[in-house]
Amino acid sequence: MEIQKVIVANMNYKVTNILFLSVFIVLIAVMVFVDLSYFYLIASLILYLGIITWGVVDIRLNFFLPSIQKLENKKQVLLTFDDGPHPVYTPLILDLLDEFNAKAIFFVIGEQVGKSPLLIEEIQSRGHIIGCHTWSHHYLFDIFSVNKMIEEVTKTNQLLEQLTGEKPEYFRPPFGITNPRIAKLVKKTGMKSVAWSFRSFDGSKRKNDTILNAIKKNVNGGEILLFHDNRLRTVELLKLALPILYESYSLDSNDL
Ligand SMILES: [Zn+2]
Repeated sequence: MEIQKVIVANMNYKVTNILFLSVFIVLIAVMVFVDLSYFYLIASLILYLGIITWGVVDIRLNFFLPSIQKLENKKQVLLTFDDGPHPVYTPLILDLLDEFNAKAIFFVIGEQVGKSPLLIEEIQSRGHIIGCHTWSHHYLFDIFSVNKMIEEVTKTNQLLEQLTGEKPEYFRPPFGITNPRIAKLVKKTGMKSVAWSFRSFDGSKRKNDTILNAIKKNVNGGEILLFHDNRLRTVELLKLALPILYESYSLDSNDL
C-alpha cells in the first residue's frame, strides 16, 4: 500500500495519461495480431480510472497541481480553518487562538463574508491570513466551467480586497477535490493552492478522544492542520487540542 502511494504521488496527470495511452495502444495493436483476451484492456482501463479518481479525491498527491501541504519550519504547526466566517463560532475561535498566541489561515466563503463583513476585519486585525474558498462552495463547484470558477474566485477576492486592502494570495479547493479545471483556475488566477497534511475530521462523528489521540500520534513539526470555523464542535475540540499542540510546537506563524 505504501509503495503504491509513493508511485502514484510521483506520477502526475500528464505522465499518467501518456503512460496509459501507450499501454492502450500496445494492447490494441497486440489484439489485432494475437488472440488476446479483452481482460488486459479492461483491467488497464479500470486501473487508469482508479488512479485518476485517487488523484481527484486526495489533494495531497499533487496529481493535477502542486499544493502547499507542509511548512519548512519543523518547530511550527499551522492551523487552517475552512467554510467561515461564522457569526458565532469564528469569534470564539479567534479568542481561543489568542490564548495560545496562534496565527492561522482562514479560508473563507464569499457568500459568508457578505453576511459578516466585520468579522473579516477582526480576523485580519488579530494577525491571521485570509484565503479564498470560493464564493458559493457549491457541491458541484468542481464540475463548473473554468470561467464560472474564475468568476467565483474573483468575486470573493474583490470583496476581500475591499475589506482588507489586500488581495488574497492563497486558495483552498472546496472539499479538497482537485481536477484539471481546478488546476486551470489556480493557474489563471495566479493563486497558491493550499492543502493540509493533517485533517482533524472535526465534521465527522469521531469522538474528541479519537481525534486528540490522532493529533498526539500523527502531528509532527511542519504540519498544516485542517479545521472548520463554522461549527461548535471545532470550538470544543480546539479547547482540548490547542494545549497539546502548544506544548510541542509554536503556533505563532502563518508564513507559508
Ligand atoms: Zn470547505
